[in-house]
Amino acid sequence: MKILVINAGSSSLKYQLIDMDKSEVMAKGLCERIGIGESKLNHTPNGCDKVVIEKDMKDHADAIKMVLDALTDANHGVISSMDEISAVGHRVVHGGEKFNKSAIIDSEVKAALEECIPLAPLHNPANIIGIEACEKAMPGVPQVGVFDTAFHQTMPKEAYMYGIPYDMYEKHKIRRYGFHGTSHKFVSQQAALMLNKPAEELKIITFHLGNGSSITAVDGGKSIDTSMGFTPLAGVVMGTRCGDIDPAIVKFIADAEDVDLKEVDNILNKKSGVDGISGVSSDFRDLEAAAKDGNEKAQLALDMFVYSVRKFLGQYIVAMGGVDAIVFTAGIGENTVMIRDMILKNTEFLGIEMDKAKNEKAIRGAQMDIATDASKVRVLVIPTNEELMIAKETQELLK
Ligand code: AMP
Repeated sequence: MKILVINAGSSSLKYQLIDMDKSEVMAKGLCERIGIGESKLNHTPNGCDKVVIEKDMKDHADAIKMVLDALTDANHGVISSMDEISAVGHRVVHGGEKFNKSAIIDSEVKAALEECIPLAPLHNPANIIGIEACEKAMPGVPQVGVFDTAFHQTMPKEAYMYGIPYDMYEKHKIRRYGFHGTSHKFVSQQAALMLNKPAEELKIITFHLGNGSSITAVDGGKSIDTSMGFTPLAGVVMGTRCGDIDPAIVKFIADAEDVDLKEVDNILNKKSGVDGISGVSSDFRDLEAAAKDGNEKAQLALDMFVYSVRKFLGQYIVAMGGVDAIVFTAGIGENTVMIRDMILKNTEFLGIEMDKAKNEKAIRGAQMDIATDASKVRVLVIPTNEELMIAKETQELLK
């Protein structure tokens, strides 16, 4: 069975065609600048060089058509006809409280997706456009929505409610939703496989540390708390997002800087985090290099990131009454030896013992246990694979 995985953004569309029988990516690519001119498609068939096709894409329907053409092209295609595609799995950012699992898209599901737009006004409309473009280009092919929020719908009420008037929740659905759910689910399931134990018997803390970062407490295979909140702005200090701050700062900045709330939102989302602190970059490679050269603000940004992550480690160990495994994933979690080392510094009293030599040997793309043999808590580096998880959920639903 071949499944096309689509991640549609407002002006971009990422895709992977996955052969589920071989668990293999047949081709992947990205449509850029959809609807804003100078659009192009980067298409990479497995094991081959990237092909760049420059062609105007006035909307997502054009983009999907180009993707299907590329996949079936005589030279750089990987399938002979689009009939080989059994289903399409769509990454959908927000499923609100309506979706606690993936869903086959029909008119009812689409209506529910529309209802979730106020919760993710930048992302969900693009996801819906992507779904509709596929419906048009591939009539009759099942479309499945896989939600970033769904995995966290198991959180208990005391974890997802905020201390604001209850009617804010009833009227506006303001609560913690959490994000990166597909990644947290994938790596926690992989961790159970690596440890050769049923997920139901494990307490796992998953650290998805990338440009956006979130941490999840997974107890018995279920998310019981997560660091992101009503939006992906909450939690740890991120690349350009502030993470948890005193909410009173929002009004204070608006008054002090004489800017409107939209600009404050922009500052907190795009000009904050390690980028805003260091003035260097949101990329941890640049920060590590600058810190090594003696840039104090870059060092401060790294220290703040690490400290904010460590606080969640403590919180979630208490929330679950223990921890069996810690998982590092995503760009920073999979790649930065130094950050993993800093996060787990002085945690031996909790039964967490990282093996420094193993930590240094962990390379991106491979999963590895980097704890000492004696460590009570396993420390795992597991590459995330959201696309494969989306494809698996899609396949599961078709059964
Ligand atoms: P992601 O959002 O998962 O793609 O992660 C992207 C982030 O991972 C980048 O912004 C970098 O900060 C970080 N990253 C990726 N590769 C490396 C690396 N080799 N060393 C340090 N940080 C890295």
